[in-house]
Amino acid sequence: MEQKGKIGVTTENIFPIIKKFLYSDHEIFLRELVSNAVDATQKLKTYSSIGEYKGDLGSLSVNVIVDKDKGTLTISDKGIGMTNEEIDKYINQIAFSSANEFLDKYKNDANSIIGHFGLGFYSSFMVSKKVEIITKSYKDGAEAVKWSCDGSPEYTIEKAEKEERGTDIILYIDDENKNFLEKSEIDRLLKKYCRFLPVPIVFGKKTEWKDGKSVETEEDNVINDTNPLWTRKPADLKDEDYKKFYQELYPFSDEPMFWIHLNVDYPFKLTGILYFPQVKSNIDLNKNKIQLYSNQVFVTDSVEGIVPEFLTLMHGVIDSPDIPLNVSRSYLQSDQNVKKISNHITKKVADRLEDIFKNDRAQFEEKWDSLKLFIEYGILTDEKFYDRAQKFCLLKNTDGKAFTFEEYKTLISTNQTDKGGNVIYLYASNKEEQYAYISTAKDKGYDVILFDGQLDVHMAGFLEQKFEKSRFVRVDSDTIDNLIQKEDMKEVKLSDKEKENLSEVFKSQLPSIDKTEFIVDYKALSETSQPLQITQNEFMRRMKEMSAMQAGMSFYGDMPNSYNLVLNVEHPLIKKIVADVEGKEKEEVDAYAKDNSKVRQLIDLALLSNGMLKGEALNNFIKRNMDSVNE
Ligand code: ADP
Repeated sequence: MEQKGKIGVTTENIFPIIKKFLYSDHEIFLRELVSNAVDATQKLKTYSSIGEYKGDLGSLSVNVIVDKDKGTLTISDKGIGMTNEEIDKYINQIAFSSANEFLDKYKNDANSIIGHFGLGFYSSFMVSKKVEIITKSYKDGAEAVKWSCDGSPEYTIEKAEKEERGTDIILYIDDENKNFLEKSEIDRLLKKYCRFLPVPIVFGKKTEWKDGKSVETEEDNVINDTNPLWTRKPADLKDEDYKKFYQELYPFSDEPMFWIHLNVDYPFKLTGILYFPQVKSNIDLNKNKIQLYSNQVFVTDSVEGIVPEFLTLMHGVIDSPDIPLNVSRSYLQSDQNVKKISNHITKKVADRLEDIFKNDRAQFEEKWDSLKLFIEYGILTDEKFYDRAQKFCLLKNTDGKAFTFEEYKTLISTNQTDKGGNVIYLYASNKEEQYAYISTAKDKGYDVILFDGQLDVHMAGFLEQKFEKSRFVRVDSDTIDNLIQKEDMKEVKLSDKEKENLSEVFKSQLPSIDKTEFIVDYKALSETSQPLQITQNEFMRRMKEMSAMQAGMSFYGDMPNSYNLVLNVEHPLIKKIVADVEGKEKEEVDAYAKDNSKVRQLIDLALLSNGMLKGEALNNFIKRNMDSVNE
């Protein structure tokens, strides 16, 4: 009974199109075929459990077999199989319309084409010159049939010999795709896509080392874990299980800090485990570590658009049959289900963090340095997450003590409110380099936050907007009295000429530093305050720092670093200099400055406490001071 026919596609010939457009993702065919085999197997189990199938189930594994000599790759299952009519219905009648239009639109996205048309099985033609299906239905008295197609829309269907129930899909791999006849390649693909499928996938036999070489054993080589951790009940699992699974997913990684076992039934189905990785340095950060599965079939490890951006820093697995996996990313992002899933995951992550914070604050603080970047990223990019995280986000001060936003405000509001009623948050970005400024602030009874993380400049700007009447200023951005202005500043009583001379004294002695400019500033500070300080304007510095991190702000990035050289006109030393150069001309002032060891010493000390005294200038400073020791 040989039967011939034409596959029911409206486009004249689907195969050249499949081959032509789906080049980028050829390997997907294996995922599709093994998934079909697994589906057929699962269906049989269901029929058996409801009594529709009364026969023996036997071993239900799916076998993948490479035969390099014959040039075939076979995917063989013992599932429900197909009758002649079913082949006609499911394989021959590929019903779709306006195919050309669609193919044109998504020609670079194999996933969407395949999924859209239910072309799963037909993806086998991406790599084959001929495909055969030999199948026997589970139904009583069913006869085995063989379907065969060589890549034209014509197929043949005939009676076949097959003892066992189930389906063999035999691919005659074409010349351009010979790599799919390599065991190692199939092994790689099975491990990538099929690692956690719910039915055992057998690929050859296990091997062992014997007499110095690898030999096959009798035992089937099952490549998957049919019962992965996320499908199990959290109540049955121990910490060790989660840690072990993490090692399986990411071999040689440090232990994760925490994890969240997701298990949602309504309004969508979603399971998974998300891990908070340890972050040792910012360079460590690795996005795209979350793997997305659909019913245990691996789909992708690029989850942007499905989980909120900041959560892509997490590791782990998400499995949801409700995510429309086979459509384009732009569609995904507007999909309501995906939005709900994304919001839900954010909520779960916030719940978990809040839970640890409330129940084990010591542990939370201990892990803060690793959590910080992640939480700040969330705060800066996700309004909903900020609402939750403001309760547990911490500010650590330069002494290593951690406070919540509220605790910190209580700590500083009495002492660090300026005359305009603004609460001033002082921070340092480097404990060592800004040591002098930190210690001056501390002497004054102020507290200094340590903001040395990658996102901290952004946090400063963000929190300024969120907190009412507050400002964030770096300790070295002004003199101590001006950082938190509590009363009106005293007036500077110098004539223009006096200012000009004073400026000349110091500017003429400044070492020239690449891409750095100094602006002289006169302030009437207290007599006991330092005569000369170097500060850097908060706004300009922040702009420069942010421009280094984001495109489109290079205007600020290209500007020189501008520092203020603040002269305390009330200090006796400065007063003396003003008197000394009174009425002098520029050359005389320069000569005076050059011979004045105190001027040079003041400059060097100010540069030194700012970490700016380097190279020759530093060397000269040391020599000069050694000389004075030896004198
Ligand atoms: P999809 O899996 O998305 O429905 P496919 O083109 O991959 O699309 O398969 C079409 C149909 O062919 C399946 O829905 C199923 O009914 C049938 N089929 C495919 N492979 C098998 C198999 N190994 N065993 C039984 N039926 C199969």
